[in-house]
Amino acid sequence: MLWEQAQGKKAQCFLCAHRCLIPDGKAGICAVRRNIAGVLYSLNYDKVVSANPDPIEKKPLFHFQPGSKSFSIATMGCNFRCEFCQNWQISQAVVETGEFAGEAISPEQIVNAAIQSGCKSIAYTYTEPTIFMELASDCGKLAKQNGLKNVFVSNGYQTKEAIDFAADWLDAINVDLKAFSEDYYRRLCKAKLQPVLDTIEYIAKNTNIWLETTTLLLPDENDSEEELKRLADFLVTKAGPDFPWHISRFYPQYKYTDSVPTPPASLQRAYEIGKQAGLRYVYLGNVPGSKQENTFCYKCGHTLIERIGYNVASNKIKNSTCPDCGAQIAGRW
Ligand code: SF4
Repeated sequence: MLWEQAQGKKAQCFLCAHRCLIPDGKAGICAVRRNIAGVLYSLNYDKVVSANPDPIEKKPLFHFQPGSKSFSIATMGCNFRCEFCQNWQISQAVVETGEFAGEAISPEQIVNAAIQSGCKSIAYTYTEPTIFMELASDCGKLAKQNGLKNVFVSNGYQTKEAIDFAADWLDAINVDLKAFSEDYYRRLCKAKLQPVLDTIEYIAKNTNIWLETTTLLLPDENDSEEELKRLADFLVTKAGPDFPWHISRFYPQYKYTDSVPTPPASLQRAYEIGKQAGLRYVYLGNVPGSKQENTFCYKCGHTLIERIGYNVASNKIKNSTCPDCGAQIAGRW
């Protein structure tokens, strides 16, 4: 899907913003789309490496069916090369070794497993869902017919064509806005910032897909006051104040181990920056016991959803409004 033949048996892929022009016999940057005799094939359609129910809060999606379970699937591969990847065993291994793991699980089996395990949605997650769009699309349409929602947890590197392609069946997305500098994206992820900004703005303004964003704070890399202010301003002005922003604590892993975990003071400062910029819903993640996991009414400050880790302890939102002051609380409740 989302490719066309080009001169000299090349394949022009336009699924993600890398827009690889792939010679015959080669694969794209993601390692999972290969040109064989002028035809681009998805190599991971029948290679599912993960299929489990998860709390929707783990994605994280906090304003979308809170307290529900989401059947979470992934295949191998990724179009980014993040040095701090949490799931590098499944996202980067195929890039490094060329070897695929995973088993053939059909969209029918995935949808049935989701229903049987009491899930309200299917999450395409753990690795980048854009690069298993064929499987996500078949699954997503079937899920919709069966009353389930579909959510992406994504690096936001889709092309506009890919977003339009998914917009009929995709209900929500959490986009990683990893930093607000081109240098960071180029150096640590082997990608560019601008396509991610374009995706966030496009989804917010042109689709009905519910949007939340996440920033993993890396000490001394993306946590300066100036950069976070620009990031938060971008979210407020280009997406809007109602879309939640998650700020996540970093722990050293994969190739990025020469660092300390994000200091709590940096997280707190980022939280304040987001609120001062005008974002109505800012959350801290990977900080057990933090009060900033809760949802507060942006108008009167009333506690609306109390969370303990990934569990929802209480939810007072009624008819999408605050029971105390009647303010409309944005989300898909
Ligand atoms: S999906 Fe893969 S092949 Fe297509 S443009 Fe992105 S990295 Fe290249």
